[in-house]
Amino acid sequence: MKSFGQSGRPPRPNHLPEARGEKRPAGSPPPVTRKPAIMQEPVLVLNATFEPINVTAVRRAMVLMIKGVAQAEEVNHTHVHSASRALPVPSVIRLLAYRHIPQQTRALSRKNILLRDRNTCQFCSRILPASELTLDHVVPRSRGGRSSWENLVACCYQCNNSKGDRTPEEAGFALARRPRPFTLHTSRQLMRLIGNKDEKWRKYLFY
Ligand SMILES: [Zn+2]
Repeated sequence: MKSFGQSGRPPRPNHLPEARGEKRPAGSPPPVTRKPAIMQEPVLVLNATFEPINVTAVRRAMVLMIKGVAQAEEVNHTHVHSASRALPVPSVIRLLAYRHIPQQTRALSRKNILLRDRNTCQFCSRILPASELTLDHVVPRSRGGRSSWENLVACCYQCNNSKGDRTPEEAGFALARRPRPFTLHTSRQLMRLIGNKDEKWRKYLFY
């Protein structure tokens, strides 16, 4: 199979024959300007056993396909054009070799906490962009609260300021949900949330 080249990256537009001033052979499809946004679209990743395990971006999914690590199970109607051919954009890919997914939780990070809490302030329930959210220690650090999955929540700046150095009870705040570690169960819930919008994902997520 002819790949995108040594780097495994999709070609830049000047790799298209037209960009080099070459004439397109008769009957070949017209060139399509690649839209970078497409490369960031979510792709569902299945294990070799068809078990959904992750969500990745089109760019990463295509690299896995080109490397022969994964194959497309569902494709979009869109294509990404290389110099020699058009590649269908995947919507669902499957790993060709079974990968053991440990039951351990994900790394504790700001990004993962915002993902777990779906960018929702856990005190006022507003959904906000990541830039307008901070992390709140439910039990403040000054009171012995730890930086853990169970004690960190997504929080808007207003709630964070008005809560200050108090516990939710002292501040008269209630948590929207009890914070839990980010497990495979959490990932699956998120995949289902995204999958609701994509018909092609549904059969792999709802069973
Ligand atoms: Zn808030």
